[in-house]
This record gives sequence, structure tokens and C-alpha cells, in this order.
Amino acid sequence: MRIGLGGIWQETNTFAPRPTTLDDFRRYQLFEGADLVAGLAGTGTELGGAIAAAREHRVQPVGLLFGAALPAGTVDRGAFEGMLRTLVERARAAPPLDGLVLSLHGAMVVDGHPDPEAETVAALRAVLGELPIGVTLDYHANVGPALARAADVLCGYRSYPHVDMAERGAEALELVVRMARSGARPDRHLVKLPLLTVPHAQEDAVAPMRHLLAATDALRADPDVWAASALPGFAYAETDRLGFAVYVAARARAAERARELAALVWARRAEFAAPLVGPDQAAAAAIAAPHPVVLVDVADNVGGGSPGDGTALLHALARARATGAVAVIWDPAAVARAHEAAGASLALPVGGHSDPLMGPPYPAAGPVRRYGEVSYLRTGSYMRGQRVRMGRVAVVEDRIGELVLTERRVVPFDDDHLAAVDVRPRSARAIVAKGAIAWKAAFAGYAARAVYARTPGYCPAAVDQLGYRSRPEPLYPLERDPRWEAEVAAALAAT
Ligand SMILES: [Zn+2]
Repeated sequence: MRIGLGGIWQETNTFAPRPTTLDDFRRYQLFEGADLVAGLAGTGTELGGAIAAAREHRVQPVGLLFGAALPAGTVDRGAFEGMLRTLVERARAAPPLDGLVLSLHGAMVVDGHPDPEAETVAALRAVLGELPIGVTLDYHANVGPALARAADVLCGYRSYPHVDMAERGAEALELVVRMARSGARPDRHLVKLPLLTVPHAQEDAVAPMRHLLAATDALRADPDVWAASALPGFAYAETDRLGFAVYVAARARAAERARELAALVWARRAEFAAPLVGPDQAAAAAIAAPHPVVLVDVADNVGGGSPGDGTALLHALARARATGAVAVIWDPAAVARAHEAAGASLALPVGGHSDPLMGPPYPAAGPVRRYGEVSYLRTGSYMRGQRVRMGRVAVVEDRIGELVLTERRVVPFDDDHLAAVDVRPRSARAIVAKGAIAWKAAFAGYAARAVYARTPGYCPAAVDQLGYRSRPEPLYPLERDPRWEAEVAAALAAT
């Protein structure tokens, strides 16, 4: 039996002005054919998990095309169309396939393509016919009905930080093999809730998601249930698919089960709020023991599509006369200047270059360490085994601590990126983490505590400040209407 593997993966932040181009996919991950299987085997990614499961089930994995880019602005139309064309051509040219496993994000937005994930499945279906197609989705997927219809089964992550990517990939492969061998297909149902939530309120170990994931797990434990997901969605993608989704694939009664789970989500909607403090309050917290304190730069979340050059917390740490901090700042021009400058010490403005929103630049000064092209291997729980390139790096030993200036945007999903440039976050007093929850995969093991800061960026916690131009309406909590909310609850409860 042969199972084709592929996908096009990105979390798109439509509020980030910089479009995502084919170069961004090339720079992060773009595999074709046999290189896909060779490049992703043994990694803690969805397709890495699918490859491992394929070997276990004596199924031949056939690499088609997989492209992934770091979260950023809307994907360029030509980039998507080119990758999709190659993916479809490779599927057509491959020896006959018995099924497909696709790693899709679910919150990708492409210029001119309103539902690129559903379109990807449909385009493959058009050349391959009715073979079983299993799709893995990010926890932040904004799933619409077209994708739920097009794919035979959807396997959404159930963790945030996302540490179950490989497990979901293995699960998708096993379900596809089961469908290919038996000919059976599950009954499936998607409920789209009129509910908007922000990343830092979606942690898997904390209420309300802890309870909702427990309910999802209870569903999954039923032998009649093939797959079940509660997907909170991604608030920073302006699409008509925006919002929370619940999905169930089962031997029978998928709609009833999905509606029950959705009613639980709706009942807990008010719990999706997490407290934030101002940058000065966050910096003050960093001075007091125990250490290290993680200062969470919520809105400049690199993994959510923000650039990673926001300086609000650097200025606040300087005002608080804090020392011993560690912060990563994306600033290719500052890296170039640091590499061109002579001497063991330098002074230069860093960060705040991508948008006035992210600034003003921070005046860094102190001894500098220079690194040529840096790449590292992820060894933690998040995409383990994946090689990541940071470009050239300069580390300035500023009065507030070590400022790691990088040529490429770096996500805080691991602490390997700091070890690669001789920075020891474990012994820092404060770690500035440009993310909402994903940083926990890197630092939660030794962080004494975390403070969530209200900073500027493209992933703000206050969604009413985003200025959506087009989105579904009404949407809780932006629209509050008790009568409408009661109607939604009644509709969800009706089985
Ligand atoms: Zn995600």
C-alpha cells in the first residue's frame, strides 16, 4: 500500500503587512519527492509522525510536496498556486496511491484564494478520485465547512504548546490506512461557533481549554469515534472562516456528538480571558526573585506572524534598571552593522525597524559577540529534529542583559536557538519571550514564573483594537447581545 504525503502550511496574520512569498517557504521548509521523506523522517512534525506510522504499518510513504513558512502576512498568490500545481502534478505522476495524508495549517490566507486548504484537498481529489484523504490541522486552524466536507477525516492538534504534531500525523496515517483497507468512511460533522479567542487564553493545561480538551479526549476514547477536535482558531486572520470550530468524525451520530461538545465550549466562552500587565509592571516583576521570570511579549508573537522586533519590554527593563535579561530581536540591519563594525564593544539602535508600532528602537551598547551563519537542531518537544537557520547573529551584552540580534525571525519554541549562541536562559533573571503560549515548550521547565505583558504588535490581546474589515458577525466577545447569545446556546443544545 502506498500513501502520498504532502501539504502547504502557514499560519497567516492578515494584520502583518509583509506578504509571505515563495522565498519564505524556501527559507523555512520546502521538500519535494523523495527529499520529503528523507528530510522529515525522524522529526517531531506531522509528516514525520506519518512516516514513522507508515513504516510501522508496512505502508510505503510517497513524498509529494510539503511547503511551510513562518507565520507572517498574507501568502502571495503565485507562491501558493505554484506549490499547489507541483503538489497536484506529483500526485498525478506518482505510482497509484491508496490514500493521502496532508499536513495543512487551517489558518492560511492566500491572496485571491478564500479557502486555500479546502482548495488543496479538492484539487488533489480532482486528479486522484475517491481515495481516503486525512488532514492534520493546527490548534489555531480557522476551519470552514468546505474543508470538513472535502477531507475524509481531520486530525487537529490537542496541545498548546503544540507538542503532539507527530502523534496527529501518525493518527491521520492510521485512519487513512484503515479507510483504504476497509473501504469505510466516517460520518463527520463540523460546528463553527461564533466565538473569537486569543492565543494566550488558549493554553491546553489551563481552563477553559483544559476542560474542553478533556471532553474531547473522552469523546476520542469511544471506539465509535474516529477523531474529535476542539480548535480555538486564530484571531489574527481576517477570513469568513474566523473562529472556534468543533469537529467529530465517528461511525455514527457525528453531528450530535459535535453539537454536545460545541455546547460545552459555548458555555465556557467567558473564561477565554487572561490578565495582562503593562510593560513597566512586567519589568518590575523581573527584578524580584525567584528567577528566571518569563516576560511574555504577547502581541509581538513571532509564531503568530508578528515581526519580532518590538522594543517595548527592552525600554521597560531599562527604565526599571533591570539586569540579567535575555531577549531575541529580529534586526538584519543591526546584525550587518555589528558585523561590519570594528572593536569588541559597540553602541547601536536595535529593533523597532519594521513598523513604527514596534518601536522606537532601543539604544543597545556593550561588548558584542559575532556569529556567522547559525543553524541549530531542535532537541525539545516542539518539532524535534528540525533544523532551523537563524542567519548571522550578534549578541550585545547590554546593561539590561544579552540582546540576541538575528538576521532571520526566530520563534521561541525551543531554547536550542539560545544555546547555539552561548546564551544560558536558565541562569538569566528574565527571559523576554515573543510568543503567547508556545514559549512554554522551551522555558516552562525551569522558569520560576511568567508575566504576560500588554505590548504593541500584530497579535494584540484586545481584539477590539484590531480593526477587522471583514469577518463573520456577530462574534462573541466583539458583539454582546444576550438574546442572540441565548439563541446560539439553544441551537447548540438542540440535538
Ligand atoms: Zn498554532
